[in-house]
Amino acid sequence: MDKKQTIPVAQPALIGREKDLVLDCLETNWISSNGRYIKLFEDRFAEYIGFDHAVSCSNGTTALHLALLALDISVGDEVIVPTLTFVATANAVAYTGAAPVFVDSEPDTWNLDPGKIENSITPKTKAIVVVHLYGHPCDMDDILKIARKHKLHVVEDAAEAIGSAYKGRMCGSIGDISTFSFYGNKTITTGEGGMVLVNNDRLAGRVRILKGQGMNPDRRYWFDTLGYNYRMTNVQAAIGYGQMEKIDLLVEKRRLVASWYNSLLESVPGVTLPVEKSYARSSYWMYSILIEEEFGMTRDRLMRFLYRKGIETRPFFYPMHTMPVYRDCDAKHLSTAVAVAEKGINLPTYYDLRRGQVEYITDCIKKARDEKGFDP
Ligand SMILES: *Cc1c(COP(=O)(O)O)cnc(C)c1O
Repeated sequence: MDKKQTIPVAQPALIGREKDLVLDCLETNWISSNGRYIKLFEDRFAEYIGFDHAVSCSNGTTALHLALLALDISVGDEVIVPTLTFVATANAVAYTGAAPVFVDSEPDTWNLDPGKIENSITPKTKAIVVVHLYGHPCDMDDILKIARKHKLHVVEDAAEAIGSAYKGRMCGSIGDISTFSFYGNKTITTGEGGMVLVNNDRLAGRVRILKGQGMNPDRRYWFDTLGYNYRMTNVQAAIGYGQMEKIDLLVEKRRLVASWYNSLLESVPGVTLPVEKSYARSSYWMYSILIEEEFGMTRDRLMRFLYRKGIETRPFFYPMHTMPVYRDCDAKHLSTAVAVAEKGINLPTYYDLRRGQVEYITDCIKKARDEKGFDP
């Protein structure tokens, strides 16, 4: 296959009025971080998730930083974080001066294991950050119970869970505060962008002040607290507002793609399919499988094989406690995350993916298995 035919692992779907809305920003001269699309996008997103307040910001990492700052997380505190996540989750904790404390994963959902949280709680623990990994919701009731018992805040890093639901409630509306990312590979995108969602007026006000240099909302150029410039532009918000018009379609298509993969891969020995728990509606941000020993070819070798067939894939994230930058952090008994991370692979998952392409991808996976040992 030549380069042009490569199936990417992700790509945006600008299928609404994004272009018209961006042109409106250009034609009206509202291209910076004021302008009508900011509020339109925030209100629409808050309504979709089901929290009172949505505060836009520059990306999903700054959204996490703002959420943690609003909760007064700082130096000397500890924050529980799943070790199997994108680095942004841990980095945002580190930016506050608090220490991330890494916890192991569940073997089936690959999410933070509620049964392993309490072991890691100390008098310094202030919050639990949950990550709905690859779109599958965490087991929130168990996590909320632990948080209540120990008086901890719960932050949902819902960057990968736009459109996912837990027991009928949208991910991002279950914890105390939640964050989203609109990076180009996320379920909806603004190019770069993020959002903090919260149901509490005081916290929402704090987040707004913090993202705008800490300026007192009643007194221009008066600064009571250390703030940041983490604002989103009107142009980005216009794209996001356009994306919201098609949000249901974008999520449903991902679920359809996942159902194709499931039916085409279910009988392949050595391939573990993603679960969807009875409590969960996954938005399948990334359709992900585990390549077991029985498959006869390692995960990395399969990835190279698929790449030669014009199929782009991604390995699972490395567990954070194995990263040089977090090596000194406290981390015990994280063997499930380590095992899952070595075997996991993300397959192409995006709106424009056609049934025929999913058949091609799964045929190539079956072929790799049949030709095991053949690695030119
Ligand atoms: C994408 C992502 C983020 C943050 O993304 P940005 O690139 O900063 O927008 C945070 N957490 C998780 C789990 C993510 O997947």
